[in-house]
This record gives sequence, structure tokens and C-alpha cells, in this order.
Amino acid sequence: MIFDSHCHLDPRTYGGDAGVDAVIATAKAAGVTRMLTVGAGYGDGTAARAVAVARRHEGVWASVGVHPHDASTLDDAAMEALVALALDPEVVAWGEVGLDFYYDNAPRDVQRDALRRQIRVALELELPLILHDRDSEGETLEILKDEGAFHGAGVLYHCYAGDVPQMRELVALGGYVSIPGTVTWRKAEQTRDVVRAAPPDRLLVETDAPFLTPEPLRGRRNEPCHVALTVDCVAAVMGRPRDEVARLTTENACRFFGI
Ligand SMILES: [Zn+2]
Repeated sequence: MIFDSHCHLDPRTYGGDAGVDAVIATAKAAGVTRMLTVGAGYGDGTAARAVAVARRHEGVWASVGVHPHDASTLDDAAMEALVALALDPEVVAWGEVGLDFYYDNAPRDVQRDALRRQIRVALELELPLILHDRDSEGETLEILKDEGAFHGAGVLYHCYAGDVPQMRELVALGGYVSIPGTVTWRKAEQTRDVVRAAPPDRLLVETDAPFLTPEPLRGRRNEPCHVALTVDCVAAVMGRPRDEVARLTTENACRFFGI
């Protein structure tokens, strides 16, 4: 049993509802029996679509939030709609939220403001936070600390891209890291170092589907069943049996999401 802690099962990417249903069935047949579909990152209506998918499928949960790319869209009405969705029992996290200074799709001040507002809402709703941090040079972590995010329901860095000292700081604060399929890529030595050094009770695995397909399937559209390749790689790097890593990362995900 494996938990894909971060995928985007948006019907617009996978050929409609029937396509999403097929992708989920394939994942379950491959032993990926639990998934969190992220209700952020594809503009308007993404969160509602994620919640609808989670409602339709046992073993699939959703998050809601506004991705840093879309930070300019977070007005009061959008926040109100997200909060209403977050009350659904299928919603077990807020995110993905954070800072992306690599793409800079929204002005940095707007990104900072959206992150702070969403941390406050997640704390109020007692939902754990899923973070997206790209090239913020530590600013995401500074804002999390400043807003008291580590005193809430939890902090998870998805698609972890930091180095070992940064991971250690995050873990010392109570945070979790999620390892994507890129860990299988030849040049990802830093991610493999993080896997070796991280406390095993703070590691999750994810696909970030439809992106970041692991080797040897790189170049194809990613989907949750491929998280099994990431588990194989993480197990080899940790020097532990695959089943143990599958169980461990599933337990961590369930604890983090409170399910
Ligand atoms: Zn994502």
C-alpha cells in the first residue's frame, strides 16, 4: 500500500472525469491505494474539481488553496469560496501555497501576502499546510515561522528541493518533506542525500502528477501509479525493504493529514 501525497488529478489534464477515474483505478491496481489531489495551481475552479474527485473516490482526499502562481487571484470572494470548500470532510489540508521566485508569475509582494493570509486561515481551520517553495532563498520558512505555522496542524514541503541542512532545520521545527519522482533522476544527488539524512518518520512520497515523471518513464505524462518507482528508489537509497518504505511513508502521510 502506497500513499501518493501530492498529485493533480484535474479532469482537464486527464481527459475528463472518466480519464481521472481510469487513472485512479490504475493506481489502486498498482497498490497506490491512497492519494491526495491538490486543489490549487490550475486557476479558477481547481479546488472545487479536486473536492469533487475526492468525493467520488474512496482513498482519495483533497486540499484547497491558491498556488503562488495564481496569488493575484486571491481576493476576499475567492478566499470565502475556498473556506466553504475546506469544510468538506474530504478536504484534509490547505495548499499548495508558498513562494515561487523562479517563475515569478505573480509579483513577489502579492505572493507574500497570499501566503500569509492562507497560513492564517489554515491555522484557524486547523488544517495542515502544503508548501511550494521555489527559489525563495529561505523566505518561505521565515514567513512560516513569523506566522506561527509550526504551532498548527502541520507543515509539509512538497517536492522537496532543499539541501540537508535546510531539511534538518525544517524537521527540527516539526515539518515534513515529500520526495518526488525526480529522486530517480541522475542529477538528483542532493535529493538522495536528503532521503539518507531525513528522519524516516518525516518522509512522504509523491508524484506531483502530471509533472516530474520518474525514470525510466521520464518524458511521459505522470500519474499516481508511478509513485511506486519513487518508493523503489527511496528504499534503495535508504537501504530498507521496499514494503517497509511503502508502509512508513503511508503512515507518515496518514498522520500528517489526520486520516
Ligand atoms: Zn503540485
